[in-house]
Amino acid sequence: MPDDMARPLVRGRGEGGASRNLEALMPEPGALVIGILGTGDFSRSLARRLVASGYHVVVGSRNPKRSLPLFPEDAEVTSQMEAATQADLIFMAVFPEHHSTLLQLKPALAGKTLVDVSNGLHLNRDGPSNANQLADLFPESFVVKGFNTISAWTLQVGPRDGSRQIFLCSDNPNAKNSVMQLCRRMGFVPVDMGFLSSSLEIENLPFYLFPSWHIPVICTLSLFFVFYLYNFLRDILHPFIKEGKSVFYKMPIETVNVTLPSVALVMLALVYLPGLCAAYLQLYWGTKYNRFPNWLDRWLTRRKQFGLCSFLCAVLHAVYSLCLPMRKSARYKLLNAAFKQVKQGVEDSWVDEEVWRMELYLSVGIMALGLLSLLAVTSLPSVANAVNWREFSFIQSTLGYCALSMATIHTLLFGWDRAFAPDQYRFHLPPTFVLVLILPMVALLGRLALLLPCVALRLRKIRRGWERSQHIRFTLTDGHSNGLEDVSNV
Ligand code: NAP
Repeated sequence: MPDDMARPLVRGRGEGGASRNLEALMPEPGALVIGILGTGDFSRSLARRLVASGYHVVVGSRNPKRSLPLFPEDAEVTSQMEAATQADLIFMAVFPEHHSTLLQLKPALAGKTLVDVSNGLHLNRDGPSNANQLADLFPESFVVKGFNTISAWTLQVGPRDGSRQIFLCSDNPNAKNSVMQLCRRMGFVPVDMGFLSSSLEIENLPFYLFPSWHIPVICTLSLFFVFYLYNFLRDILHPFIKEGKSVFYKMPIETVNVTLPSVALVMLALVYLPGLCAAYLQLYWGTKYNRFPNWLDRWLTRRKQFGLCSFLCAVLHAVYSLCLPMRKSARYKLLNAAFKQVKQGVEDSWVDEEVWRMELYLSVGIMALGLLSLLAVTSLPSVANAVNWREFSFIQSTLGYCALSMATIHTLLFGWDRAFAPDQYRFHLPPTFVLVLILPMVALLGRLALLLPCVALRLRKIRRGWERSQHIRFTLTDGHSNGLEDVSNV
């Protein structure tokens, strides 16, 4: 193995001679001198990454002697004033509370780019942002917000093992461009977020906890809780109260396994219902230019998350179902049933109708799960980017409706004729599958109604910009494309 591979990319002080090891680390002549104010965790990691990327780094400290051993030997550690004077571009690696203590550096920082890497203590909805405050403190410098979403750890190990994106914003395009170039040279991907007014959003990014998942997860958990309670009342409490039969052992597996597909099917219906609501609203309004209500807007943007929650429940249902025969209770039940039949002299327990029902029920269920898996895979950004819009909408819409139909048939086959059996209405409550089927049936029938030629044509016209009140007439050309004839003055 060549010796170079064994040598560290960036050496700390006292780890070898004074000269640099790798040619690639030599700063290019005329390259920017990068200053860092502050010598904390972030500063140390940043200095290492900048040195490894071939920059000349000057670190400014209140106590350079104390901080010197902490930095790689290729970085210069000096006073704050000296660093601010030497550097062309300066990272402010100090907490925002201490920005004001750097005011004496104002003349040295004038006309230079200041990168504000600071984060707040908590989510700040009202502003002003730390970057805006820094810009007010140093009006003669050009403030760029960025690097706050990257941890010191990610900086240290490099972009291969962490988030590669760095969100940047600034009111000065030149300053922003120079920081973007620096990002690229360090191996990160700069994301231009526009003017400094976006800095509040960038500062708030580290505080968000899966923002688009709140409603879908709450919905999934609420549905799970409601259906579990419902199944518990009907399948466990009812036999206990009415017959004194204790079947509480069903709670961890059987009841969960009846609850999971209920949640999966309702969540899948919730993926397609907002699209239908939007279509019917457009038909009712006779235009696509009216704004949807906020709740519908939010619902439409969360469909992917609803679908993935549905997929998770469906997968868990499949795993639970596979485990059902492994349980001791299932084996005892089977043995007891066999003994009972022998006692009664029954030799053949084959029921043709039941056999067919079960075969179809399982087959359709497997198909539904397969289609749901396909939908889940194509919702991954890397896969979604690899297909065009037509392919994506074919999978998500056409195959999605197929999945919903399969899952609905799976539930119908599970129910079979039991919806009409009076003993299924325990505590006068209908069986769970009857309740579960309501939303999917509404979604499927709603979709079928939209496929009626007169409705489909009108909706297609509306989506191409036709408005009932604008007197724009459409003529259908050959094939399926629409021709538009403007008769607005008619
Ligand atoms: P830190 O370890 O506490 O370092 C802060 C540095 O600020 C100190 O080492 C100190 O260096 C310097 N400083 C200058 N004036 C100061 C004063 N008046 N009082 C106290 N210290 C002063 O903090 P850090 O973790 O490196 O974070 C620095 C900045 O980076 C913060 O704004 C933070 O939000 C941001 N950030 C950090 C991370 C991370 O992973 N750590 C990630 C993203 C963003 P001298 O004593 O040498 O002057």
